Amino acid sequence: MPELPEVEVTKKALESVLKNTSITAVNIRNKQLRWPVEEKEIKKIIRSDIKKIYRRGKYIVLSCQNGSAILHLGMSGSIGVFDCNAKYHKHDHVEFILGNGKAIRLNDPRRFGCVIWANKDPQKHRLIKRLGVEPLEEPNLGEYLYAKSRNRNTAVKNYIMNSNVVVGVGNIYASESLFRSGINPARSSKRISEDRYKKLALEIKKVLNEAIKMGGTTLRNFTYYNEIKQVGYFKQKLFVYGKSGKNCKECSKEIKERVIGGRNSFFCPNCQT
Ligand SMILES: [Zn+2]
Repeated sequence: MPELPEVEVTKKALESVLKNTSITAVNIRNKQLRWPVEEKEIKKIIRSDIKKIYRRGKYIVLSCQNGSAILHLGMSGSIGVFDCNAKYHKHDHVEFILGNGKAIRLNDPRRFGCVIWANKDPQKHRLIKRLGVEPLEEPNLGEYLYAKSRNRNTAVKNYIMNSNVVVGVGNIYASESLFRSGINPARSSKRISEDRYKKLALEIKKVLNEAIKMGGTTLRNFTYYNEIKQVGYFKQKLFVYGKSGKNCKECSKEIKERVIGGRNSFFCPNCQT
C-alpha cells in the first residue's frame, strides 16, 4: 500500500513534470474509483495555472486558480508519467494530458484511490480538515505525541497510526520506528514517558526521510515509471517488518508477529519493551 514516502516521491515527480506546462486534456477511462470521478468538475483543471502541488497526509493536492484536484492512491494506486501516445496499461483509469506531450496516468487495480475536485480551500475539505499533524513538519512531534496520549489507553502502534493524531505513519513505518526506539508496539500509549516519545518521534522522522530518499518501500509496479528510476529500495533496510521467525539484527533473538489493532505487527520482544 502506498504510504507517506511513496506519496511524497510521487508528488515530487508531479512537480517536476508539471513545471512550465499545463494540463490540456483529461481522459477519464473509468469513473468508478473510491468516489465517482466527476468529469465536469475535474475538467476545470484544463489550462488552469497550477499554483502549487503539495502533499497533505497521503493526499496530493494540485492547487489551481479555480480550485484544486485532490488525488489519493488508495490501496494499490500509482501515478506514472508517459508519452501521451504510449500504450495504456490495464487499470489506467484517469489520464491528464500535458502541453509538453507527456501524460500523467493514475493506475489503480483495486480502485480505492480517488480523483476529486474542491472548489474552495482544500484544507477545509472533509477528507483533509481533520487530519493530524505532518510528522516531518512538526518540530515538537515527541512532546505532541506525549501530550495527546495521556488519556488514551490504546496500543502505541495504533496510536501513531491514527491519522487524526499524526498522518502518514503506516504499518511498515510504525513497526520500524517502534523497533528503532525500543518500544513494544502493544504498550499502552498513555504509559510511555515523554523522553521515549521524543526518541520515537525522532525515529519516525528518520525512517520516513530514509524511505523518501530511497523512493519508498512498496512501489512494486513502478518499474514502468519514467520519471523516477530508483524506487522501492527502502525494503532492504527493514529491521522487523515482514521478518517474523528471522533473527533480530540487534540481538539475534527471534522476531515475533502479532495482530495489534487488526494489523500484523512485527517486533523483537527482547529489544522492545
Ligand atoms: Zn532484538
